[in-house]
Amino acid sequence: MTVSPLVDLTRSLRLIATASCSRSSRTNLAVAGAYATEAIVLRSFRTGEADRVVHLLTPGFGRVNVIAKGARKTTGKMGARLEPLTRIDAIVQPGKSDLSTITGADVLWSGDELRRDPIRALAATGGIEAIVRLFPEPEPDERLYRGLQRYLEALTEPLGDDVRGGADTITLGFVLKLLALAGWRPEVAACVACGAPTAVYDAAAGCAFCASCGSGSPLDPIAASAAAQLLAEPLGVVTTPAPVARAAIARVCRETAEQHGGVRLALLGQGVTA
Ligand SMILES: [Zn+2]
Repeated sequence: MTVSPLVDLTRSLRLIATASCSRSSRTNLAVAGAYATEAIVLRSFRTGEADRVVHLLTPGFGRVNVIAKGARKTTGKMGARLEPLTRIDAIVQPGKSDLSTITGADVLWSGDELRRDPIRALAATGGIEAIVRLFPEPEPDERLYRGLQRYLEALTEPLGDDVRGGADTITLGFVLKLLALAGWRPEVAACVACGAPTAVYDAAAGCAFCASCGSGSPLDPIAASAAAQLLAEPLGVVTTPAPVARAAIARVCRETAEQHGGVRLALLGQGVTA
């Protein structure tokens, strides 16, 4: 039996329709995979001839690692937008591996002032290290993201004559809040057993004691009160504590992170403990 020309034509049309339909649905899938998100650049590494691997924190997708292709070419404009501490609007195309590709970036907040000042930039390394080490999982947390945004903005504000002290204090406040967000808020306002002024901090217990009730690293009432204020108040509000108190607060943060998170905060309080 011969196939009538009409049937043949219909079948051909159906085949073409099926082919183009499946092609367009594949295209749609690829496009649908790309997403737009606000992001803060945590770290950036060179890779290959001209590329960069960039670690981002986003409000809705958590930690996202992307490759910026050609970011280091002199003609590429993407590189300058992907400096650490920059806040951007990004277009991200997920790949087959954990590494997505960043295909677009607009600067929302450049972070230039922060990177230009070595004292503030040094303090920021302590805050970035804490967020990277205390929150290694990719789960999104809008509070974490907005906290980092506020921290970087606070570090850029006028800090008076003692810029190092001011930047250290903002960083200590930020790290204390990160510890609280992780579920390890140090209880330091007074001895948790009897309410007397503090003498020591017991990192395993996560709280302070007077000399009679417990043992731990030294934490005098002045440092303890400053730490409690830093936990309670917004960033950039608390008066800069003396260097010895800042060193004690940095120790509380480091011991808590090590004891409960198993992570070392090596860069925190470099200015006061060096
Ligand atoms: Zn006590």
